[in-house]
Amino acid sequence: MANEITHETIKDGWFREISHMWPGQAMTLKVEKVLHHEKSKYQDVLIFKSTDYGTVLVLDNVIQCTERDEFSYQEMIAHLALNSHPEPKRVLVIGGGDGGVLREVVKHDCVEEAILCDIDEAVVRLSKEYLPHMAQGLSHPKSTVHIGDGFKFLDEYKNHFDVIITDSSDPDGPAESLFQKSYFELLNNALREGGVISTQGSENQWLHLPLITRLKKDCKEVFPVAEYAYTTIPTYPSGQIGFMICCKDASRDVKVPLRQWTAEEEAEKCRYYNAEMHKASFILPTFAKKALQ
Ligand code: SAM
Repeated sequence: MANEITHETIKDGWFREISHMWPGQAMTLKVEKVLHHEKSKYQDVLIFKSTDYGTVLVLDNVIQCTERDEFSYQEMIAHLALNSHPEPKRVLVIGGGDGGVLREVVKHDCVEEAILCDIDEAVVRLSKEYLPHMAQGLSHPKSTVHIGDGFKFLDEYKNHFDVIITDSSDPDGPAESLFQKSYFELLNNALREGGVISTQGSENQWLHLPLITRLKKDCKEVFPVAEYAYTTIPTYPSGQIGFMICCKDASRDVKVPLRQWTAEEEAEKCRYYNAEMHKASFILPTFAKKALQ
C-alpha cells in the first residue's frame, strides 16, 4: 500500500523483538498499523498499533511498553518504593519519558513535587500524542519534565529527594551509565535521610541472573538495604522484569509496605499492585534466591 511505514523489525505483519540480550528467543506481536517511525538524536523510535496489545512503543527495536500490560510495570516500580517510605514528598524519575511512572507517583497525596528527567524529547513528545493514558503523568500539576541525561542531572542534587525511580531502557544504549555502581552512588547522595530508590533491575531471572547478581552486589555496597523484587508482564522478555529496591535507613524492611491504602483505595488506584503483591514480589524461586544470596 502507498505511504505505508515500513520497519526492519516488521515482517509479514508481525513485529519481532530479536536481540542478543535474549539469545534464541523473540517476542512477536501482530501489527495492525504502524503509527510513527523516526530516528531521534539518541535512538530509533517506532510506534505501532498491535492487534491485541494496544499501542506499542519500541526503542532501538526493544519493546518499552504496550497499552495492555504497562500498568504491571509502572505500578510496581513506583509503589514498591513509594510505599517503603514513611512520607515521600520530593520524587525524581530518571527515564520514564512515556509518563506512566509519573502517573503512578502522583497518586500519592503526600507527594508534593515529581520531577522527571528523560534524555530523549522524542519519547516525551510522541507519548503525549500516541500514549495519552500513560502521558497524563507528564502534565500533572505536581510534575516537572526535564530533558537531559539522568546521570548528569543527578549529579546536581545532594540530599534532596525522598524517592528516586529509575525507569530506564536496557543497559545496551543511552541507559548504559544507569546500571553502573557510580550511578548508585549518585542516587545515594541525591537522597535525603531515609530515602528509597527503585530501579529497573535488568530484565529477569530466566535470562540475566549474572547481571542481576552484579547489580545487587553493587547496590549492597552503596545502600545498607538492597532487595530484588519482580513483576510479571507478558511483553517483556520471558514475561517478567525485576527491580532493585534500596534504602538509606538500615532498619527499614522494604519487603513490607510501610504505608498502605485501604482495600477500596487499592482497587480504585491500581490494577496490579496491592499490599500482598508488594510482599510477594520479593519472594524468589530457589535458583534465583541461591544466585542472589
Ligand atoms: N520500562 C521500560 C523498559 O524497561 O523497557 C522503559 C520505558 S522508558 C520509555 C525508558 C526511557 O529511558 C526512554 O524514554 C529513554 O529515552 C530513557 N533513557 C535512556 N537512557 C537515559 C539516560 N541516560 N538518562 C535519562 N533517560 C534515559
